[in-house]
Amino acid sequence: MDVEKIYKESGALLEGHFLLSSGKHSPNYLQSAKVLEDPKRAQMLADSLAKMIKSSGIEIDTVCSPAIGGLLAGYELARALGVRFIFTERKEGKMSLRRGFEVSPSERVLICEDIITTGGSAMEAAREIEKKGGEVVGFAALANRGVCKREDGSSKSKEECKLPKDKPLFALADFTFPIYEPDECPLCKEGTPAVKPGSRGN
Ligand code: ZN
Repeated sequence: MDVEKIYKESGALLEGHFLLSSGKHSPNYLQSAKVLEDPKRAQMLADSLAKMIKSSGIEIDTVCSPAIGGLLAGYELARALGVRFIFTERKEGKMSLRRGFEVSPSERVLICEDIITTGGSAMEAAREIEKKGGEVVGFAALANRGVCKREDGSSKSKEECKLPKDKPLFALADFTFPIYEPDECPLCKEGTPAVKPGSRGN
């Protein structure tokens, strides 16, 4: 499956000067919501990701996503895997499990994002699941920005990757666009402001 082509055709691969949630800058941004606005396309991507996860032999009881970014991908993935779906959300900056969602002792939970960059939000969700007694068995995303290493991927895990090395990351593709520290960003040096995706209708 050519995931980059699907993102491009969906208008989900943006070009400009973006401020990522990790605080870094990039000339590209993946707007997964644009890919997932078509439920059939969302289902197709999730089915493909589920197939990869199932063939690894990993056992999963529940998919958990950090809101808002991971919701659609996680929900579709849970459907494809035939398991329960829950989500964590930020309340006063802290990622927590709300809305009556519960985790049983030793419940095997897969954390699902739309895109994994450093895995920061995914790790916050993972810690919340572990705090409730659940067992985080792995991570999943539609696409990986190439900072972390995915199963069967060619890129190596970089220092900034926050995901644990002993747990698998499943993703359909690596999108290794340039990512810059703000003080080393060539786009900033050209004088254009970095925009937060979503803040100008993108
Ligand atoms: Zn910049």
